[in-house]
Amino acid sequence: MTGQWLLIAYAGLLPFLLFLLLCGDRPAFEGTCLERMHHFIFAGGCCESLQWLIGCVCGERGTKTCSSVEQYLCDRPNPVLQLFYLSILGGSYITIATTSLHYIPGFYVSVYHKYIGQAAVLVGVLLFLLTSFTDPGVINSTTLKVHISSYPYDGMIYEGTKECTTCRITRPARSKHCSICDRCVARFDHHCGWMNNCIGEKNLRYFLSFLIWHVCLCLYGAFLLGAILLGEVEDRNVVRAITYYYGGPATLRKVYSHVLQWLLTFYSTQVLMMVFLFVVSVLLAGFASYHIYLILVNTTTNETYKWDMYQRWQAELAYTKILEESKIAGIDRGFPVQKRNWMCGMFSFLSSRDPSLPPRPKLSNFKQKNIYNRGMFANLAEAVFPISNRKAPKKKD
Ligand SMILES: [Zn+2]
Ligand SMILES: [Zn+2]
Repeated sequence: MTGQWLLIAYAGLLPFLLFLLLCGDRPAFEGTCLERMHHFIFAGGCCESLQWLIGCVCGERGTKTCSSVEQYLCDRPNPVLQLFYLSILGGSYITIATTSLHYIPGFYVSVYHKYIGQAAVLVGVLLFLLTSFTDPGVINSTTLKVHISSYPYDGMIYEGTKECTTCRITRPARSKHCSICDRCVARFDHHCGWMNNCIGEKNLRYFLSFLIWHVCLCLYGAFLLGAILLGEVEDRNVVRAITYYYGGPATLRKVYSHVLQWLLTFYSTQVLMMVFLFVVSVLLAGFASYHIYLILVNTTTNETYKWDMYQRWQAELAYTKILEESKIAGIDRGFPVQKRNWMCGMFSFLSSRDPSLPPRPKLSNFKQKNIYNRGMFANLAEAVFPISNRKAPKKKD
């Protein structure tokens, strides 16, 4: 029974951590223990506490070493997460190969899956290498012209020609200077620590292929292990043996808890690997879906932040205008509109807004006008065949 509880705890912990990572800092959880846990685990709180502890034990020298390690891990390009990915992939493959491949061919699994599985892992590694080591669309004096002609400035989140203060070159629309890699990248999406590379115009297609392939790979591994386990149950007549012992009809549905207990006793590694692969595939599917959505509406992770800031700025401008107008209207009526009375003071705890002030305009009133969105299929084609690749250098007369 301990194995079952361990399995439930293990399968529940991973989705909870993902939920905490994605939603812990949302306004809905402000002030709750979820927000504090998010800060502690993902927003440096854990590192700060560790640094404090090391400082107490080892003194100033320990604190300095800690900050230089943190700087190396967070602010500089480093292969730590790449090695972590390879160790997870290699570890999972070796575990499955040593514990489960000898069950192939089995009752439900044909011999071909031995080779399909190996080929699928190799393709996964190839996509990882392509995303990690190919050019994301670095902007330098040679490529600048092509990148500037790739996208127009929209006058909203990309206003006119500006110079990158670090690279000292003109910033093309949709580009961004990556502070970790210290270079400007075209159609910058984000810096990926797992790839130790920026995700930009030219390697977005490999990054997306990597995500989709790994969702399929994990699901394939989980179903393969499931088929192997079901085959073992069938091969060894487990259902019949259990019903002979406990009585009742000999169907898997009736005795599934006993079968699960039997599997956890004799095939615990396979069951744990199956759950692990399934949970990872669900997490990756969520991340891949988000990136597919961004590609289909032709925007980037970086631009979603920029649009958010732009909308807030527009809302602030509109609110300032409303305040100005209401002030004028108040003076016309002979009393100041912003003066608070005692009733407002008493019930102010019910709302964060001062009730004597006009309501703030909603952010949703300020719609995004994404000029780069040219329709779903054109957007997808743009991600697969980057614009700068299509633009051949002009021949000199
Ligand atoms: Zn730059
Ligand atoms: Zn980068």
